[in-house]
Amino acid sequence: MKGASGPSNLSRRSLLAGMAAAPIVTATTEQSLAQATGPRWTPQQAQAALKDAKGTKLVLLGTAAGPVPGRSREMTSHVMLSNGSAYVLDCGMGVTNQFARTGIPFNMLNSIFITHHHADHNIEYGPLLIVGWIQGLPLNIRAFGPPPLKQMTEDFMRAYKQTVDFWAEDFHMKPLTSVNVQEISAAGPVMQNDDVKVSAIVVEHPPVKPALGYRFDFKDRSIAFSGDTAPLEAVAKMAKGADVLVHETMYLPAVEKYIKGQIAQGRPVKFEAFMDHMKADHTPSEDVGRIAQEAGVKTLVLSHLTPAIDSITDDTWREPVAKYFKGEIIVGKDLMVV
Ligand SMILES: [Zn+2]
Ligand SMILES: [Zn+2]
Repeated sequence: MKGASGPSNLSRRSLLAGMAAAPIVTATTEQSLAQATGPRWTPQQAQAALKDAKGTKLVLLGTAAGPVPGRSREMTSHVMLSNGSAYVLDCGMGVTNQFARTGIPFNMLNSIFITHHHADHNIEYGPLLIVGWIQGLPLNIRAFGPPPLKQMTEDFMRAYKQTVDFWAEDFHMKPLTSVNVQEISAAGPVMQNDDVKVSAIVVEHPPVKPALGYRFDFKDRSIAFSGDTAPLEAVAKMAKGADVLVHETMYLPAVEKYIKGQIAQGRPVKFEAFMDHMKADHTPSEDVGRIAQEAGVKTLVLSHLTPAIDSITDDTWREPVAKYFKGEIIVGKDLMVV
């Protein structure tokens, strides 16, 4: 039904019937809330969680892996909100809408961080800048990421100069003409202000070089991101003792099933070659558990879910990880506040 269903009454009816037939889960409150909302929280839930928040919060804006449009999960992006400043990590398609749905005002956006130059992590970087500026984004916005982020930013701003100028003239706004970009090519400190200290590591995601993981040390909370990577000791080291580790997660049995299905439908890929590529670039669930356990993090968030198929249950995602990691495991949902 999914994908083939159009906006007809019939498909809407069967959709509603399917929802009504969904099992009611009675686990912990958080689990049942997450289960009940499927792959995403509503904007109201996210806004309420942020309103009640004490201290630094992370919102998972998009939790799917890969540049595949039209799914129920958005491509990868996150926002952290701390002491009135917002920090966006990754800009997959959907980041601007999802950011807006959190209710965080655009004028709170302090800086943008990119892990690596794959479309599911950077494709909406430029649009976030332009639409964000129209919505009040500060002109001193900063961006951080691997080269050639400076060139990409300049080229994008040049491409949209006329668009920005028309809007600036019409609404008497100061145009966004440039962005302060800092390129990151190696592990080490990235930036620091009164609220946060950010550092990066280089991860393994061939052929993308460099691909980065980040750690944000806020005053009250530390949050680490693996980025896209094969299983890597450096991620465990970076995340050592962090409150939260957001780790990409690949559930191999479902990836195998998915690609076999694609091949059966005539997709011109070889099974072994495809799986070799996935294993060289991404982290299987069991390894995610091992890495989080070694790092000793309090909470592990499974995100960048591969494959991002709705029929995979939270328990299926959690089980292979829980064999190795004894802390709290959260299966990421779009707009979930952690
Ligand atoms: Zn990715
Ligand atoms: Zn990638």
